[in-house]
Amino acid sequence: MKNKSFFFNLFIQYIIIIIIFAIIILTVSYGITKRNYINNLVDELKSNTVLLEEIVKNDLVKNDFNSINKKINLIGKRLTKRITIIKTNGYVVADSKEDYKRMSNHIDRPEIIEALNSKIGQAIRFSDTLKLNMLYVAAPIKYKNEIIGINRISICIKDINEIIRGFRTKILIITFFLIIIALIFAFFMSRKFTSPIKLLSDASKQVAKGDFNIKLYLNSNNEIKILTQNFNHMTLKLHDLFNELDYEKEELKSIITSMKEGIIIIDNSGKIIRTNSSFTELIDNKDVTDKYYWEIIRDSEIISFIKKFNINKKNIVKEIYYEDKILFCSINPLVSKKGFVLIFYDITELKNLENIKKDFISNVSHELRTPLTAIKGFAETLLEEEADKNKIKYLKIIERHTERLINIVADLLQLSNLEEDKKNKLDIEKVNIKTIVENVLVMFENRIKLKNLDIEIQIDDNLEKIECDSFKLEQIFINLIDNAIKYTDKGSIKILISSIDDKMVKIEIVDTGIGIPKKDISRVFERFYVVDKSRSKKNGGTGLGLSIVKHNVLLHNGDIKIYSRLNKGTSFIILFPINFNT
Ligand code: ADP
Repeated sequence: MKNKSFFFNLFIQYIIIIIIFAIIILTVSYGITKRNYINNLVDELKSNTVLLEEIVKNDLVKNDFNSINKKINLIGKRLTKRITIIKTNGYVVADSKEDYKRMSNHIDRPEIIEALNSKIGQAIRFSDTLKLNMLYVAAPIKYKNEIIGINRISICIKDINEIIRGFRTKILIITFFLIIIALIFAFFMSRKFTSPIKLLSDASKQVAKGDFNIKLYLNSNNEIKILTQNFNHMTLKLHDLFNELDYEKEELKSIITSMKEGIIIIDNSGKIIRTNSSFTELIDNKDVTDKYYWEIIRDSEIISFIKKFNINKKNIVKEIYYEDKILFCSINPLVSKKGFVLIFYDITELKNLENIKKDFISNVSHELRTPLTAIKGFAETLLEEEADKNKIKYLKIIERHTERLINIVADLLQLSNLEEDKKNKLDIEKVNIKTIVENVLVMFENRIKLKNLDIEIQIDDNLEKIECDSFKLEQIFINLIDNAIKYTDKGSIKILISSIDDKMVKIEIVDTGIGIPKKDISRVFERFYVVDKSRSKKNGGTGLGLSIVKHNVLLHNGDIKIYSRLNKGTSFIILFPINFNT
């Protein structure tokens, strides 16, 4: 149903109120008029009885009923009223309208009883004689202070009603005109009251449609004025807000469009909300609007990447080979949680450069290995044959530096081997971790003794064999224990191995050595990063050991962390999976 307007409702309410008031006024005024009229009539009849008393008194004393009848007939006609004269015993002795001889005794009539009590009696009653409703007023006729009879004047109620009806018609006509005036007044009042509201309502409709340039000017001094001012203020604010939003939206749009990275924003149902040109170029499909991502992205690796994200809705990243490109994909939930954004960084060139660099390092290392071994060999031969102390000193320097170079080359080769095709290089088997630790410790026995370090080993007895590449696990222990010995001058080295649950083991290598400064902790896993160059060189360090360790741990899907305090010691904590999952 269509909503009735505020004006219509208000006007109808005015009409209802006016009609109710008109009915009340009509009924009340009719009642009051009738009552007043009867009262006036009674007063008039009362004064008539006083006159009548004087006219008939003497005749009544003389019992001259004929004379009385003549007189009251005459007066009755003049006054257009009925006059009756009654004796104190109730017998009628004269009547202006009827034959008094045929009339019954009136002693029991209420107005007569009143009059006999020296009062003025009055009554409205049906007259048996005239067969009409009559108003009676009766008064005693006194002679020498004694009641000798009663004179009664009556009038037909029908006549009163007719007169009153005349009044009523007049009242009705007046009321009708008053209603018309009130309605006209109500109409204009309703319009005056509702027109600003209508204006406001029309204006708010315009605003809802997006037209913020609307401004209202209303000539009123009440709350409507405040409402109008607030409305204008609100529209202005909304206008500014929308402008700002539009500007930000445009800015964001142009940022997204100009980005080199392919971007696709998808809602929770999988529908594409927004993409940029880099993305459409990447997938070579420009028609992406209102489509689901699986209609556009055909690559199974990307699809399963999105599915993986949908499980936890947390940021994940992955390197994906797409056609002839290598893409670094990152997926993030939207702040509103109503979808997610997928970003594709094309890292093909970067990867190529990295590969060139790796190849170069690997080639150089390979090329250097033979001449360096030769130099070392010849230096050793020369040392054996040389007797000159001075020359021996220089030959030893050559031998030491060649040794360092050979170490660097060996580490570099190891790193580049690791970084080649990772999965294929792993030789997974079930190994006993305890045996590996024991084998490694044999290598370091002499150095531990030389430094007089305490060594403590705690390995869970019920630790099952773990699935890993034994050579790489051994490398992890070699590098970490080697460092622990290198950087600890006194105190102890602890090797603690325990299973966390049926999936992971925890390997801790704790020393009481010199520790690592806080600022360097986050960088020690970088290639060639050494904390103190002179100290590292003195110990024969290359800065590659920890990066090899980290690499090996990550190859097995494990995790490594360092806790270190300067001059207190260092702990390396590795979480290593029991079963190798590709
Ligand atoms: P390096 O061959 O120089 O030891 P690493 O990669 O093994 O290279 O270690 C990087 C740096 O981390 C080292 O230069 C050393 O300063 C620091 N470091 C590694 N292990 C320890 C340790 N157990 N105690 C103190 N410092 C250490």
